[in-house]
Order: sequence, then C-alpha cells, then structure tokens
Amino acid sequence: NKFEALGLGEEILKAVKEMGFETPSDVQEKAIPVLLNEETDMVALAQTGTGKTAAFGFPLIEKTNADSKITQGLILSPTRELCLQITNELKNYAKFIPQLNVTAIYGGASITDQAKQIKKGSQIVVATPGRMQDMINRKLVDISNIGYCILDEADEMLNMGFYEDIKTILSHTPKSKHTWLFSATMPKEVSEIAKRFMNKPVEITV
Ligand code: AMP
Repeated sequence: NKFEALGLGEEILKAVKEMGFETPSDVQEKAIPVLLNEETDMVALAQTGTGKTAAFGFPLIEKTNADSKITQGLILSPTRELCLQITNELKNYAKFIPQLNVTAIYGGASITDQAKQIKKGSQIVVATPGRMQDMINRKLVDISNIGYCILDEADEMLNMGFYEDIKTILSHTPKSKHTWLFSATMPKEVSEIAKRFMNKPVEITV
C-alpha cells in the first residue's frame, strides 16, 4: 500500500493495516518522508482532522529506540483532551512495539501516578505545558536527552498563554534536538517561536 512507499517500518505498517488506514493523508504524504529521511526541523500548517498526529507520530516512533528507557521524544499539546487523544493514537501506532512506552502528563490528575509512569521508563512523553513545567521543576521527568520535540497546535498553546512555559521547557532540552511545529494558523507569535527556537525548518502547508 501507499504507506509502504513512505518508508515506514513493518511494525507501524502492521498497525496501519489494523487501524484501517488505506491512503496517507495530504499532511502525512508531505511530512513523513521528510521527517524519516532528513534530520531537520519542520513547520507544518495543518488543521486538526487532517491526520497530523500520524504525520509526526509515525516518524517519531520510527526514530525512537524502544530498547532504551531514556525519554527521547516530547510532544506538547494545549489541552488535557488533546494530550490523551495523542497518547492513545501513539499507543495504537506502536501496538506492535511492546517495549515502547508513551506517557500522558497533564493537569487535574495525580502527579504521583504520572511520575510513577515516567519512572518506569517512558521513551515518549505527551504533555500539557503547565504540568510538564511543574514536573521538570520537581525533577520528576528528565528531558535533557530528547532528540525530538513536537509542538502540536502551537497557535492554541500560545492563545492559552503557554509561551513562558514552552520557553522554559525548551530550555531543559538539548540544543541537538529537532523541533517539529504543527499549527492550524500562523500568527506572528507562532512564526516568532519558529524563528527563535528552530533551525531552518522545512515548511509544509496542507
Ligand atoms: P488527527 O488529525 O491526527 O486528529 O486525525 C484525525 C482522525 O483521522 C483520527 O481518528 C485518525 O485515527 C484518523 N486518520 C489519520 N490518518 C488517517 C488515514 N491516513 N486514513 C484514515 N484515517 C486516518
């Protein structure tokens, strides 16, 4: 099928089949080959419902070493609902990679339980900015070795006043990481984030 042509590995292709995805969406077709084959930053202009979660999720899972327990990928999202939705999607995508743990970090739920999950070893963390910041301050999560940081619905996160949190969180990540920013709109604040925190991002629009 057309997902094979994008360069995805057999575990994800098996999950794709199970989920019943037949054809890659526009954003998936544009983003996946670039993110798989080039070590680059990316700015993607994409609405929700376009399949953007898989557009960053498939490459992130492919780039993650499931045999290591180190946190390698961080996804920031504006709300608890989206955070849980992304986490569930990623768990489905990685269904055939049993050692891969994806943990959701969000406010309004027990921080102790979330810290326990992290402590078991979570290669991918999906978080809302406020709780993430809190857990970093309490040294309950270590993102100093991540290779990839995804800012999902960046415009919404900025609308909700998370700029300072995002800035602080990014300051705890290594310079060597790559940042993939997804946003439905590109107001000045979003392009400023891209300019300030990203390195020659590949730009795609759907
Ligand atoms: P998203 O825009 O990532 O929130 O995805 C919207 C919905 O479309 C989710 O329920 C996905 O599981 C589904 N989806 C994503 N990519 C595809 C695809 N290529 N074919 C069919 N459904 C998809």
